[in-house]
Amino acid sequence: MRILIALAVLVSAFPGPASAWGYKGHQVVADIARAELTPAVRAKVDAILAGDTDPLTGHDMAAEATWADAFRSHGHRETAQWHFVDTELDHPDVDAACFGHPTANSPASAGPERDCVIDKVREFESELGALGTSPGERLLSLKFLLHFAGDLHQPLHASDNHDRGGNCVLLSLGGVRTQNLHAYWDTTVVEALGSDPAAIAMMLRGRITPAQRALWQAADAQAWAQEAFIVARSVVYTIGSPPGCDSGAPVALPDGYDTRAQAAAALQLERAGVRLGEMLNLALARVQISTTGIIPAVTAPVAGASDRAAESGRTPASLECSAEADQRGLHGKERQRFRRKCIRLAR
Ligand SMILES: [Zn+2]
Repeated sequence: MRILIALAVLVSAFPGPASAWGYKGHQVVADIARAELTPAVRAKVDAILAGDTDPLTGHDMAAEATWADAFRSHGHRETAQWHFVDTELDHPDVDAACFGHPTANSPASAGPERDCVIDKVREFESELGALGTSPGERLLSLKFLLHFAGDLHQPLHASDNHDRGGNCVLLSLGGVRTQNLHAYWDTTVVEALGSDPAAIAMMLRGRITPAQRALWQAADAQAWAQEAFIVARSVVYTIGSPPGCDSGAPVALPDGYDTRAQAAAALQLERAGVRLGEMLNLALARVQISTTGIIPAVTAPVAGASDRAAESGRTPASLECSAEADQRGLHGKERQRFRRKCIRLAR
């Protein structure tokens, strides 16, 4: 039976978590994703980002993966709720945590304010791959996706214990040292993996098995959130903190918690990177981007595709997705799954 994240709400009196993985975590996710990209899609990503003039961040993929947090902090609180889905541990209801899945504005960067990270990923993924998206919106959709793919895998961005996503749970780290639970999962567990984001990414990606990659790519944003919620329940909250923001004295970490937390965080970063890479590969498979950084509104199907489609009874999108599957060496169910998703995104 499908894991049920049923009923009830969040809409608590508290805002959601303030941030997700720290800068390093988001950079690790982007670096793993970049290594997953096809050469053609990597060039398209770079061409889109080359058109960015926003000084909040650098314009390489890893730096841009931190942009959405900087954007929110610089006068754009209307985007704050897009960074998480506060599913309550004691009454999990994704639909409620997603504010009833409101219809997105057009473009999706225009809101609404009350929208969750699951839906924002879906909206921006769709925009990124749509042929009619404006150059400016395509850039925004890419920048939000680079960040939100990471957020959605931070367990405390997919769960809540009436404690502001762990922000008001104080941990005792020995002596007088304390840290809140959310910050521990944003930064401490990632810092423990190493000092250089690119090196961490290479190390993590090197241990991903083909079976893991295939399994992870099969999921969509809601399944990612459910998975992160399970990590929250089975690892994060094994500290035993009571619900709410009145936990009193700092909570001591149980024996072995650091080790379990680091392993879980590493796995979440790997999943996020693989899925972000897959999402970009699919969304940008058909979109044509000028390598000068000036983005034309996207183009016609590949030469001859219409003729071939007419002959075979298949659409140009179907043919192009088959060609992309060939290029990636996909077979069997993996190929079928890729083509289904590719064609859906091309609509
Ligand atoms: Zn964020």
